[in-house]
Amino acid sequence: MHEISLVRTIFRTLDDNFTPEELSKVMAIDLKVGPLANVETILLQNAFDAVVEEDEVRFKGVQLRVNLVPILVQCPDCEQITEVHNYKFVCICGKPCGNVVQGNELLIERVEMRD
Ligand SMILES: [Zn+2]
Repeated sequence: MHEISLVRTIFRTLDDNFTPEELSKVMAIDLKVGPLANVETILLQNAFDAVVEEDEVRFKGVQLRVNLVPILVQCPDCEQITEVHNYKFVCICGKPCGNVVQGNELLIERVEMRD
């Protein structure tokens, strides 16, 4: 299941960016996920719970929040940024447009810690 390895990558990223002391204060992790990242929110949530249960007990009780962002494309002709609905990659000027500027991401947006 590819969500499991994503969750492990998230924990690795946290380890690279925070001290163990800081990580002991984590209350919630906010993820920014684009529709093109190929991630099912519910599967990611389940994977997170499973990994925490198995080998990341230090994150027990930590809330994972998955924030979905829309797909945005920027038109090479008119340079407008358009939100993509139903995977129709068309600029509002009518030109087909595959220049994705948002929608692929799977990022840690914010880590909430106790004071
Ligand atoms: Zn356009």
